[in-house]
Amino acid sequence: MAKIGVLIESKGGEVRKTTLGVMAVIRQVPEAELFALEMAPDVEPCREVLRRHGADRIVAIGAAAELSSFPEEKAAAVAAAVDHFGLDALLGSSGQAGRDLLARVASLKRAPLVLDCLEVDLARGIVRKSHFSGRTIATLQLKTGPWILGIRPNVFAERIEPRPGEIIPYEAPVTFRKRITVRQIRRGDAGGPDVSEAEIIISGGRGVGSAENFRILRDCASLLGAAVGASRAAVDAGYAPHALQVGQTGKTVSPKLYIACGISGSVQHFAGMKTSKVVIGINRDKDAPIFQKCDYGLLGDLFEIVPALTRALGPDGTA
Ligand SMILES: Cc1cc2nc3c(=O)[nH]c(=O)nc-3n(C[C@H](O)[C@H](O)[C@H](O)COP(=O)(O)OP(=O)(O)OC[C@H]3O[C@@H](n4cnc5c(N)ncnc54)[C@H](O)[C@@H]3O)c2cc1C
Repeated sequence: MAKIGVLIESKGGEVRKTTLGVMAVIRQVPEAELFALEMAPDVEPCREVLRRHGADRIVAIGAAAELSSFPEEKAAAVAAAVDHFGLDALLGSSGQAGRDLLARVASLKRAPLVLDCLEVDLARGIVRKSHFSGRTIATLQLKTGPWILGIRPNVFAERIEPRPGEIIPYEAPVTFRKRITVRQIRRGDAGGPDVSEAEIIISGGRGVGSAENFRILRDCASLLGAAVGASRAAVDAGYAPHALQVGQTGKTVSPKLYIACGISGSVQHFAGMKTSKVVIGINRDKDAPIFQKCDYGLLGDLFEIVPALTRALGPDGTA
């Protein structure tokens, strides 16, 4: 029986939705034994959710509070757990934190690493991932294990399949080298929901024109229950923080609905959002490439269209 580990990511005592998607990948193989590797200090309330979503075992890795600030030691602890439990594969979300940790673990284990997986066939060891900014999809056959895989956020829907979720405390034999001293942690300036996890994203590009104008996107987003994203041109111009950037050098997103406002539709932007279920482009240039690639195109001025949408969604619905 294959033993598969999952890196559990949680926030405020809640398991991240992207992690539940990763667990669903494993639960496609009923005979696989799922080891949920908990690292965060606030995981106690997560355990019922992990059981409901198919954790056979919940490995509580010790010293979690200290490990959380030291990426090298955290990776060493996970790599040690992979050995200790004889895991055949380790999966995590291909978000920012997951990419960092999975790559470190793969390096320590000298194991094959594939990030941003769109399809996974664990039984046959075959994965598919996008290549060259999404221009091609590569099919890879994994050979020597343990396989270390990052799953693109939101590609897999969560799956309810209760399992016992036996708790196993594990003290990883990690020596704290503490080559980095964490002096201060400040919250980023992104605000609002994380674009990597959002089901709806409304993004702004250079066409939004200024940081102040991003307010019209935020107003609409709060009524849509959406996260706000941005193109690189908007980020480079200082209209939005880098944490919101979607694309090849930003975040990869897969929401149910992606609304691109004043974004031309470059290859690099599409590399980060082309797996969105429905894309709406709002642009005043009828020749903008976005219109070749979206499901619905609205030709017009975003400063008229977005506020009209906000009014329509508001309590009065006056648009
Ligand atoms: C190596 C590399 C990596 C990159 N990584 C990324 C990345 O991660 N993400 C990313 O986004 N880009 C990335 N880029 C940059 C990318 O090539 C484009 O330059 C960028 O996506 C353009 O952003 P934009 O669409 O906002 O701006 P523009 O291309 O300037 O488009 C602005 C659009 O707004 C429209 N517009 C203007 N005013 C209005 C209005 N009032 N109403 C409606 N529409 C209006 C215009 O018609 C235009 O189509 C990368 C480039 C390179 C070379």
